[in-house]
Amino acid sequence: RAKEDGRNCIRFYDCMMQKKVSERLALESDLRVALRKNQLAVHYQVLVNEKGEPVGAEALLRWHCPGRGMVSPAEFIPLAEETGLIESVGYWVLEDVLSRIASWKERGGPLSKLQVSVNVSARQFHLPSFCSTVMALLRKTGASPRNLKVEITESALAYDLELVEETLRTLRSMGIRISLDDFGTGYSSLGYLKRLSLDELKIDQGFVRDILDDPNDAAIAETILALASALKLSAVAEGVETKGQLERLVRMGCTRFQGYHFSRPLPALEFERLIEQASGDRKRRAW
Ligand code: C2E
Ligand code: MG
Ligand code: MG
Ligand code: MG
Repeated sequence: RAKEDGRNCIRFYDCMMQKKVSERLALESDLRVALRKNQLAVHYQVLVNEKGEPVGAEALLRWHCPGRGMVSPAEFIPLAEETGLIESVGYWVLEDVLSRIASWKERGGPLSKLQVSVNVSARQFHLPSFCSTVMALLRKTGASPRNLKVEITESALAYDLELVEETLRTLRSMGIRISLDDFGTGYSSLGYLKRLSLDELKIDQGFVRDILDDPNDAAIAETILALASALKLSAVAEGVETKGQLERLVRMGCTRFQGYHFSRPLPALEFERLIEQASGDRKRRAW
């Protein structure tokens, strides 16, 4: 009886696993189709300085799948990393963003001054061809490397550190800025920070969320700000949703912010409108 129960349990488990595997396969093949059929889009979320002026944007990938609706990057990026599809997805994002940056340069005005951050996954970052691909795309699109920032997470550092250093140096020598995303949530040792050529730390939204109520989160945010300042890196607070959080961060000395309090990530055209309006009339700014 117990044996039978055990067997049923295993069967049930097998069935669950099978379902999971086939769901993942389906998602992967849908994502392949998405790449071919232009179902991917890049949205942009504004990054502001202490005066509330737009200084940059983060490019965030969106997948509108006819059968599934909006699929979150938190869902499909990890899968794309595992399957290797991230290489094509990442290339598509870079090309799309750089074309956009080039069009903003041509247009002039406030959009042409923004620094646009692109998330680059560990696997993409470690491709031997990564730097030359970026170089080729800059040339192809006519975008300026000064308008580009590459965001990596601590997981990208957990490889051969010599190689990481070399890639970072190459990118920076091209004039591209480097940002360390989700700082404090990964496994990187502080020793990396002094060795690597970085420009910016992003304080993970996990530390910002409860910054008003949780003294530990406040202490961590403050420590990251102090660390960034001591190492002459800039720091951005992610996930700022309320005026209270913003004020707290300002008092801590933070000068760069991103989050729903200012704007959600927007489709490119809406983002363009937001930026041109924000610079045209300070008072009409949405935040
Ligand atoms: P991330 O790079 O840390 O991006 C920030 C995430 O926080 C975004 O989620 C953004 O929409 C969300 N966010 C911004 N402000 C707020 C806020 O005030 N409150 C809250 N709760 N969330 C906020 P999203 O767009 O769903 O992206 C999730 C993750 O997927 C990103 O985290 C990034 O790791 C990854 N991702 C997105 N686009 C790309 C891409 O093009 N390439 C790669 N490799 N990864 C990407
Ligand atoms: Mg990011
Ligand atoms: Mg982040
Ligand atoms: Mg994240």
